[in-house]
Amino acid sequence: MVGLTTEEIPPARPVIGEAEIAAAVRVLRSGRVAQGPEVAAFEEEFGELVAGRHCVAVNSGTSALQLTLMALGFGPGDEVIVPSFSFAASANAIRLVGARPVFVDIEPGSFCLDPAAVAAAVTHRTVAILPVHLYGHPAAMDRIMAVADRHGLAVVEDAAQAHGAALAGRPVGAFGTAGCFSFYPTKNMHSLEGGMVSTADGELARTLRLLRNQGMEQRYANEIVGANMRMTDVAAAIGRVQLRQLPEWTEQRRANAKLLDARITGMVTPPVADAARHVYHQYTVRVPGGRRDAARRRLTELGVGNAVHYPTPIHRLRPYLAEDGRPGPWELPETDRAAAEVISLPVHPAVSQQDLERIAEAANLAGGAR
Ligand SMILES: *Cc1c(COP(=O)(O)O)cnc(C)c1O
Repeated sequence: MVGLTTEEIPPARPVIGEAEIAAAVRVLRSGRVAQGPEVAAFEEEFGELVAGRHCVAVNSGTSALQLTLMALGFGPGDEVIVPSFSFAASANAIRLVGARPVFVDIEPGSFCLDPAAVAAAVTHRTVAILPVHLYGHPAAMDRIMAVADRHGLAVVEDAAQAHGAALAGRPVGAFGTAGCFSFYPTKNMHSLEGGMVSTADGELARTLRLLRNQGMEQRYANEIVGANMRMTDVAAAIGRVQLRQLPEWTEQRRANAKLLDARITGMVTPPVADAARHVYHQYTVRVPGGRRDAARRRLTELGVGNAVHYPTPIHRLRPYLAEDGRPGPWELPETDRAAAEVISLPVHPAVSQQDLERIAEAANLAGGAR
């Protein structure tokens, strides 16, 4: 029986365990806290998750995206194709380097970039495609890479929500010119704050290392103009602890999702594309017919924490509106529909078997709410 007095199951729960605390204290006591050996070790170890590519750690996922676009030399006059159905950071990174985001619709099943729409959006100004592996589901990288190769475009994967996701056995972050990960507390693994760029291109990796550190490899021998986007050794030590737990956590997320798939009948459960390995950063259902907000209220009453990622597509956010205050030239029906229908339910590793039964029961009740 679903009780009203039970404690709420939170929609996300970042882990800061004894091992993370011990790692942070160890680095703090060493007195060497800025970018150093822990960052180097974290980069080396993270490489295993991205098929051995070079990894460059930075201070956030947004910095990873921004620095990558800078390193590739993109700026004013350039267009980057990006989904509007994402966190604003995906497009902010493009605007921060002075380039123009070109918003493209999603495939309704995966919630990720529609490759046919990408192909139709390419112009002579297009320099890159920035697919987002939303909710932990890999974008259709095979078809997106084919479009990129045909037009000679860079591909910057936004893998902020998808550590360990894969398509046909190949991990995200190992398809494009570069992959960008986030270690924000609510992501599948964290380093308090942090980010990582993966790339097969050694020259690009070197440029990223320069750009994150004032353009220096040797101290005071600045080679280019750079920023300070370094990760601290404290953050890296925490990230290393989390990285070791990631495989187990991912399996738990996948098992939790499988159980919810089997039990939820009153809402549309998230489909998984052929050959895709979904890592369920979010478990996102749809409630169509304008009943989403009523369903959310019912879930909350039943003690099931929930969230909408994202209620407003990026092209409808204030900084992205045209000068006349309207959402520019974009026609993105699947994006608008998803924004009106989605609810994310708790799927994180701290959700218990009993919680899962409660979540499914509540979802089945809430699915009929109006
Ligand atoms: C979290 C996130 C980012 C940004 O990462 P930060 O570490 O918060 O800067 C970028 N893109 C997506 C899709 C995200 O979810």
